[in-house]
Amino acid sequence: MIAVMLGAPGVGKGTQARLACAGRPGWSHLSTGEFLREEVRRGSALGCQARSYIDRGDLVPDPVMVEMVAARVAGVAREDVLLLDGFPRTLPQATALNERAPGGPIPLALYFSAPADVLVQRLLGRHRADDDREVLEHRLAVFRATTEPLIHFYRRQGSLREIDADRSIEAIQGELVREVQDALDRHLNLS
Ligand code: AMP
Repeated sequence: MIAVMLGAPGVGKGTQARLACAGRPGWSHLSTGEFLREEVRRGSALGCQARSYIDRGDLVPDPVMVEMVAARVAGVAREDVLLLDGFPRTLPQATALNERAPGGPIPLALYFSAPADVLVQRLLGRHRADDDREVLEHRLAVFRATTEPLIHFYRRQGSLREIDADRSIEAIQGELVREVQDALDRHLNLS
């Protein structure tokens, strides 16, 4: 089963995905941001293509992202869990994912919500190259413009679950694991 994690930069999706997969065989996560940063470090063709977008806080073009993720989701077994962190970011990415995911339309989209001032404080404490204030404000604006419509997309599809991310890591983690486990049970019973 594939589950997607939605939420503004700084909301803690990456931390939560890593924690959820630690010690759970069959669970894995893919952070498209981390994957791209690794490609940049390696100086691969994809990395060179992606770099200027990342540095500006803009989105890497959809066709590049869709091919990258499609290759990875193709191998996910029905009873395993892949948490996607940072993908989809746009409606075309979400539509393509529904079409290309082996189990059909995505059964679970977890939306991590937190007030804007909490996000900015967390991001400024993180010290990543694309985390200076100007780029950061831009990334939050990109999130509102292109990613927020995904919340409505998955709500219409009946897959959306909202998680209040302005709480302790442990409280959020507990809810995340419960939601994924429940969705996995439903997914396996249905198919
Ligand atoms: P993140 O670590 O998820 O905040 O991603 C860092 C940067 O990688 C973003 O600001 C984008 O430039 C790029 N990126 C990551 N995921 C995507 C995606 N699904 N679509 C387009 N660009 C992405």
